[in-house]
Amino acid sequence: MQYISTRGAAAAQDFRGATLAGLASDGGLYLPESWPQFSKAEIAAMAGLDYASLAVRIMRPFVTGSLSDEELTELCQQAYGGFAHKAVTPLAQLDERHWLLELFHGPTLAFKDVALQFLGQSFAHFLEGHDRALTIVGATSGDTGSAAIHAVAGREGIEIFMLHPHGRISDVQRRQMTTVLSPNVHNIAIEGNFDDAQAMVKRMFGDSALTDTLDLSAVNSINWARLMAQIVYYFAAALQLGAPHRPVAFSVPTGNFGDVFAGYVASRMGLPVERLIVATNINDILHRALSSGDYSRAELSPTATPSMDIQVSSNFERLLFDLGGRDGAAMAETMRSFDASGALQIDETLRAAIGERFVSERVDGDAMSRAIRWAYEEARQVIDPHTAIGLAAAHRYDGDPAVPVVTLATAHPAKFDDAVERACGIRPALPTRVGDLFDRQEQSTVLPNDYEAVRQFVIENAMAKANA
Ligand SMILES: *Cc1c(COP(=O)(O)O)cnc(C)c1O
Repeated sequence: MQYISTRGAAAAQDFRGATLAGLASDGGLYLPESWPQFSKAEIAAMAGLDYASLAVRIMRPFVTGSLSDEELTELCQQAYGGFAHKAVTPLAQLDERHWLLELFHGPTLAFKDVALQFLGQSFAHFLEGHDRALTIVGATSGDTGSAAIHAVAGREGIEIFMLHPHGRISDVQRRQMTTVLSPNVHNIAIEGNFDDAQAMVKRMFGDSALTDTLDLSAVNSINWARLMAQIVYYFAAALQLGAPHRPVAFSVPTGNFGDVFAGYVASRMGLPVERLIVATNINDILHRALSSGDYSRAELSPTATPSMDIQVSSNFERLLFDLGGRDGAAMAETMRSFDASGALQIDETLRAAIGERFVSERVDGDAMSRAIRWAYEEARQVIDPHTAIGLAAAHRYDGDPAVPVVTLATAHPAKFDDAVERACGIRPALPTRVGDLFDRQEQSTVLPNDYEAVRQFVIENAMAKANA
């Protein structure tokens, strides 16, 4: 399988190349040159497989040429063996029509573990026998940083530097990063805000003196391997609810459009998906794009669902490219104009194509709180605020009432305990497996909001390892 860039100018890569690069050299995102297809009979034959075996079936056509069946099987078993639930992503029923797909049984209690555990295994596999270490740098406002750290902690050949804004993330989120004491994990608390941290990371990728010295890599959701790993749970859920003989709808709390794009890929591969419901909070660029064609940047409003607080959705480019005729040159021009003006208008033809597979809803904080209360009072399920945005959107969905609607539960409620308690009066406890989080020792370095200081810290620590 070869991967092409959405902007048409970068050379095609195999799975290994696309995974290690993350972003294509022309600034575009990698997509497989064609969608693998599963027949109804092939999908029916997947029923009853354990999660790791299902993952091998789904991912196999995407990794040909880079991983053998044995290697892929090994990576999937390693990635999913550590989840706290045997089913990895179990379904919970809310009522006759509504279901929750629990994606938070990984080490850091959010759905990003499902993808990053696999990505961590893939990085380690592809780097085996390499003489230069891979240096991962990232900025986090919460979930991505901890999931990435847990995915690569202790791995040979990888150093990870994760920047977070000092004093501005929750205690649970900070401790999930700073209590990982592996020598290849470097937590940096920046005396600034999240935007300062992110700007420094962007600057490092553009700093040629730095990129000549270190092999820099990123782990954000533009990496194709992350999206690919997320396709699996759409199949797992639909199979349990009767696919391929019955369609299913999915409601997805959305930020960067990564998770819901994986659902779109599942449908392109033959899974009968009635609709994908794109659920946004009040930072609603995607809802505006899908409902009126207006994809334009707006002022960011902080909410109780910080992992969905975005101004632009990086992975939306993949959908525009795929449904817009896969014209790389045209896409490059579209994105150039979007970067310059902060806005783009989606034409009628493209909107109609998107509308065949997607609907969208914008859910405000009151509706989010009502959904938390509804889940608790009607189904005795305590859900997190992100999941509640998805559930509120699922309740508004007016598709065929016989079709089950699955809401993706993207975080464990204990990660956002204050907001949950405010909504339904219950303060969810951390699961026992992470219950000693508050007793563990922390390790991090506070640095000033100064690029040179951070750059120097990264170089010194990465080089110390290289020379050891
Ligand atoms: C990252 C995240 C999301 C948004 O996922 P995208 O792939 O960016 O759309 C939703 N909920 C939680 C809890 C997250 O951590």
